Amino acid sequence: MDGIDTTVNLISRAEHDLQAFLDATVDAAIVSNHIGVIEAFNKAAEQMFGYPSNEILGKSVSVLMPDPDRSAHADYMNAYRSSGQAKIIGIGREVLAQRSNGTRFPAHLAIGEVKGPGPRRFVAFIHDISIRNAALTALKMERDRAQNYLDLAQVILLAIDPQCRITLINRKGCELLGRPEVDLLGKDWFEASAPHRDRSAARALIKNVLSEQMEPAAYQESAIQNATGESTLIAWRSTVLHDANGHPTGLLSSGEDITARRHAQDALTRNTTLLLTAETIAGLGTYEIHEASRLLFWSPNLYTLLGCDPSLPPLDMPDITATLVHPDDRTHVKEQWHKFLVSENRFDVEHRMILMDGTLRTVHSIAQIQDHRPANSRVIIGTLHDITERKRADEEARRNSAQLAHVGRLSTMGEMAAGLAHEINQPLAAIAAYAQAALRLLDKNNADALSDAREAMQQIANQALRAGGVIQSLRSLVKNKEIEMRPLDMRRLIIDLHTLAAVDAHASDVQIKLALDNAVPPVMADAIQIQQVLLNLIRNAIDATVAARCQSKGITVRCERLMNELEISVSDHGSGVPTAVAEQIFDQFFTTKEKGTGLGLSISHSIIKSHNGKISCRDTPGGGATFYFSLPLIQEISAS
Ligand code: ADP
Repeated sequence: MDGIDTTVNLISRAEHDLQAFLDATVDAAIVSNHIGVIEAFNKAAEQMFGYPSNEILGKSVSVLMPDPDRSAHADYMNAYRSSGQAKIIGIGREVLAQRSNGTRFPAHLAIGEVKGPGPRRFVAFIHDISIRNAALTALKMERDRAQNYLDLAQVILLAIDPQCRITLINRKGCELLGRPEVDLLGKDWFEASAPHRDRSAARALIKNVLSEQMEPAAYQESAIQNATGESTLIAWRSTVLHDANGHPTGLLSSGEDITARRHAQDALTRNTTLLLTAETIAGLGTYEIHEASRLLFWSPNLYTLLGCDPSLPPLDMPDITATLVHPDDRTHVKEQWHKFLVSENRFDVEHRMILMDGTLRTVHSIAQIQDHRPANSRVIIGTLHDITERKRADEEARRNSAQLAHVGRLSTMGEMAAGLAHEINQPLAAIAAYAQAALRLLDKNNADALSDAREAMQQIANQALRAGGVIQSLRSLVKNKEIEMRPLDMRRLIIDLHTLAAVDAHASDVQIKLALDNAVPPVMADAIQIQQVLLNLIRNAIDATVAARCQSKGITVRCERLMNELEISVSDHGSGVPTAVAEQIFDQFFTTKEKGTGLGLSISHSIIKSHNGKISCRDTPGGGATFYFSLPLIQEISAS
């Protein structure tokens, strides 16, 4: 009995030991028999599953599993018993466990088989991994969030290790290099990104930084290149990463794509340089006036143009007027500026300036309101254009053209000389004849003879006046007078000129008819120049009439008012102007005449142009050419 007692005691002790051992285990520990019936259930299991051990002992382990494992458990045990093939024994895995209240939790399950005499038994250790899983999920979320931030960033985020291998690169970096992240991680950063020529220098620089021989540059610009050779300019900001001992472990950099910005900056710089150069070349200066803030801006060339010290503050328009505008032009400029501020119409004035160094310049000053906000808060932009040289050249050109016109008149006179000589000779011959007759009559000394002598004297006076008239009309044309614009009675001018022109026409057996409106309003013109134009047109008409040997030898000079202008025309019945040459007849030196100069029409054209008029030609009805010019009436000039 003693032996049996001892054996029973030993068994009971072993079971107690096992239970104590199981209870001491932190994980849930469950012992089940060969058909899955629970034989032992430790304290941790009670807590984990919510079953007191007296309630669960004797039940199938499948109650601790949710479906589908629960229903599949019996089949699994049968298969294991018949085949001896275990799918889980000795292998740990993650499973889903079910508490007494039906709730589930993830668990790590490890099962061992207790081999010995009698049927098999199994011991299962279960570790609740819900907290670990929650922590892992939280960690993953955190990592995903960080990745999202990295990917959302519109800058490249890059980390490289001391060997310059990529350890982190975000989406923007991958995009710019045109390669996926998997392709880049672990690769040499410079091989992957730097243009070939820059690689070794860049790598040497980074290695120096990572071996603590150099501080990383706070800001640095360099280009990266994608697989197709397209390059992007990046502005880098970098920091060195250190381990716990303070040794560098890599470089963390953020890189901003500044290609577009740099292009814009370059374009802006180019435009500014262009503008400054253009201002210098054109002799132009610009200014800006902000009325509200009284802010003034002068372009560098405005300082140069006005001879002002660029270190001094710019002057406002009233100050410029008071100090630099020529005293004789000040009132006008002041008035126009005031008018401009009130009307907001463009300010457009030419005036003289006396610069700081005393030089006299002429400028064309233009200003306009840039920003039509309420008065006193507007922005005014203006330019000053130095037109001194242009004015000088204009004046020279004007003098030259006046000179040319004078030469033209002299040449016309030369051409008319034969006719004029004849016209003057005739009255002279008549005067001589009348003088002879008068002398003879005076010798007779009787009353009748005296009366005849008086008559002869009268004829002498008439003929002298006739010759004098021709000479008189010639004199003004031959004189080289300054151009003088005055209100001109065109009718009177044509009648006066007719005396001279008729002489010329008469010599060629051509008649001049006048068809003049009775009263024509005045035009602003230089009389001598207009006479010259008319004389040119009449002489050409005479030439054309003679050359055509036509029956009708009449030339008509017309003067009529057309709307706002006066038209003066000279019509002939010559051969007309062929279409082929119509385009060229006003060109200098174009002539179809054997002894022509080709100057008449070109001089006439520039004279009429300087009078703001038009000159052209058309066909005369019935054949021939009509040359005409028009001049604006005085009322029209003052109205515009
Ligand atoms: P020029 O009389 O010395 O030739 P112009 O400049 O006065 O110089 O005339 C240029 C040309 O225009 C003439 O050679 C002629 O061919 C043409 N022309 C001018 N007036 C007439 C006209 N009334 N009829 C036909 N052709 C004309």
